Amino acid sequence: MTAGLNLAQQEAVNYLHGPCLVLAGAGSGKTRVITHKIARLIQAGLEPRRIAAITFTNKAAAEMRERAKGLIGRDARHVVICTFHALGVRLMREDGAALGLKPQFSILDSDDVTSLLKDCGGTTDAATARHWQWTISLWKNQGLNAEKALAQARDEDERQTAVIMARYEERLSAYQSVDFDDLIGLPLKLLADFPEVRAKWQAALGHVLVDEYQDTNATQYEVLRHLVGERGRFTAVGDDDQSIYGWRGATLDNLKKLPQDFPKLKVIKLEQNYRSTSAILRAANNVIGPNPKLFPKTLFSELGEGEPVRVVDADHEEHEAERAVARIRSLQASARDKEFRDFAILYRANHMAKVFEQALRRANIPYKVSGGQSFFDRAEIRDLCAWFRLWINNDDDPAFLRAVTTPKRGIGHQTLQSLGNFAGQYRLSLFEALFSHSLPGVLGARVVGSLHEFGRYVNELQYRARHTHGAEGARAFLADWLKDIGYEKHLLDSDDNDKVAAARWSNVLEFCDWMAGRCGGQIDDGADSALGAAGPPQGANAPSGGSEPRAAGSVGARSLLEVAQTISLLSTLSEREQDQNVVTLSTLHAAKGLEWPHVMLVGVNEGLLPFKLGDEDGEPGATPADDVLQRLQEERRLMYVGITRAQRTLAVSWTKRRKKGREVVPARPSRFIAEMALNPATVKEDPREKLKALRAEFARKAQDALSAKV
Ligand code: ATP
Ligand code: MG
Repeated sequence: MTAGLNLAQQEAVNYLHGPCLVLAGAGSGKTRVITHKIARLIQAGLEPRRIAAITFTNKAAAEMRERAKGLIGRDARHVVICTFHALGVRLMREDGAALGLKPQFSILDSDDVTSLLKDCGGTTDAATARHWQWTISLWKNQGLNAEKALAQARDEDERQTAVIMARYEERLSAYQSVDFDDLIGLPLKLLADFPEVRAKWQAALGHVLVDEYQDTNATQYEVLRHLVGERGRFTAVGDDDQSIYGWRGATLDNLKKLPQDFPKLKVIKLEQNYRSTSAILRAANNVIGPNPKLFPKTLFSELGEGEPVRVVDADHEEHEAERAVARIRSLQASARDKEFRDFAILYRANHMAKVFEQALRRANIPYKVSGGQSFFDRAEIRDLCAWFRLWINNDDDPAFLRAVTTPKRGIGHQTLQSLGNFAGQYRLSLFEALFSHSLPGVLGARVVGSLHEFGRYVNELQYRARHTHGAEGARAFLADWLKDIGYEKHLLDSDDNDKVAAARWSNVLEFCDWMAGRCGGQIDDGADSALGAAGPPQGANAPSGGSEPRAAGSVGARSLLEVAQTISLLSTLSEREQDQNVVTLSTLHAAKGLEWPHVMLVGVNEGLLPFKLGDEDGEPGATPADDVLQRLQEERRLMYVGITRAQRTLAVSWTKRRKKGREVVPARPSRFIAEMALNPATVKEDPREKLKALRAEFARKAQDALSAKV
């Protein structure tokens, strides 16, 4: 279990009976400690199901499970490896009844929450609803409910949000639904307020391991504290220099609290980086240097100096993308790691991906965009998928709520609230409740009639979808259905901007066409490989091409219901990016914990990374205000995270001009480029600049020769 671990790692892995914190820089093998420690705990006799390893994303969990499987084999199946949210779901499924939740409670995604808040606040404006959503989420993460939030409100805006939050909470409980924040907040309530639940979980879990501990928030910390109890059998690993979720409520206080709450805490530091060359590591250490240190640490690498870090300046975004493609091509020609999967292009904000996607498509280079909005995350596609989900699984309450209200069909919230109460009382799903004989006792005849009509319509669609085969049939079915429910009109009515509505409608048509193609057997999607390198259609406002259907006739025609089933699975599994041989495009946030042989950090400009700090008028280097300083420090950590994803080569690029709305404005390199303190001799020039210099030199020499002759 300790093969392939250095002494400090071994110490962390072998420390089994008390609280342990591994605090170390990027690439020092913290995640490796967690996987090996799982194996070690099992070897020491702890049953696999009594071990919980908590990761930051589902994808990280899947990866950790794979690695654990490599170390311990089938036993890994029983280890609880998941995110805090998934663990929360488990706690609530088992013990949520104490809070009045039925076990099949529904989880609303962020989109569902926005539309619910629109209704609670009586607005159609999504931006306003999202503002409430954001504030409510922060409050929930601080452990505040509507009542407490109202008591603490500092201004009218906060008071209004708290009032809306109260309505929102009522609706959630009536619908037997929870949001993502509840997946942490409610388990905490269970553990804190119900001693028997707490005792049960403390006894059930013999050891809890937490990766990326620096990005936990206050509520998650409390959950951890209750889960491990006074015995404190846990291992947390983290790096204060990589804390990049402060904006979402993560707090470094959790690192400071550990030694106070667990006086026996063993702190282990790892100093050797096994990921990056010295050149890359030096740039990383230089960048993070100016940030205040919570825990001082030094990192070294024995992988040799390696290639110098490159700085690339481009004229504008398209040029930057072309240079990234050129770099991939030239490294493929010369480097050792030349598979597409060995490359990553990382940027600060989602919208920056587009030009790189276009350039990669032109060059026929396969890629995936991770951490961004996938086609299936678009509101209009999610609307349609909600209907599909309901055809497939009548018990999917959020799908029911979305379908019954999208487009609106005169079934109001009062009705749904009563239906939700009724369903909760009799432990039925909303769909089951709708056909219950006792429902007319609770709701008026007209309302029950509308509900029945909806229920029958869903049943009919379900039946027809099951019996619709072939592309033509599917196309006609989908067109009829969209017409029946008036979806195009709904899009036009819900957006003030006609262009946006038209683009959405065109996404819908493209999506239906794509589905119909699958019913015709045009595309062999095997088990569930529909999100392969080619990916789903990219939407009306995304570049087209590159996602050609595979050869026709590879599989037989399938029913629309079967196709819909695969799609709804995909829409709920957005994290499923298996090991495809494609270039990764990712935000810096989504790149946390990962590594690639070749990394390109792009758009490293002032105003992007660091992101707008609100001090644009001030020169970099001027003393910023406190909150600006804090944000600058978080941006610097983000740059540090980006640099330290690279194993063998790193290029950092910026553009001299950038698009800002419709204008093109001059742009500056990020201050972080200077902070990397690269040796100027190793900074590669723009080839055109080099050419210019050569020409100038040539002209000078010619001039010299000429004057010598004269
Ligand atoms: P991050 O801070 O980015 O999350 P980390 O500290 O979790 O990084 P790991 O991802 O665990 O680091 O390890 C980084 C790389 O170094 C991985 O490829 C891992 O396999 C390798 N590695 C870690 N420890 C050792 C070791 N003792 N010997 C050889 N390779 C190691
Ligand atoms: Mg890690």
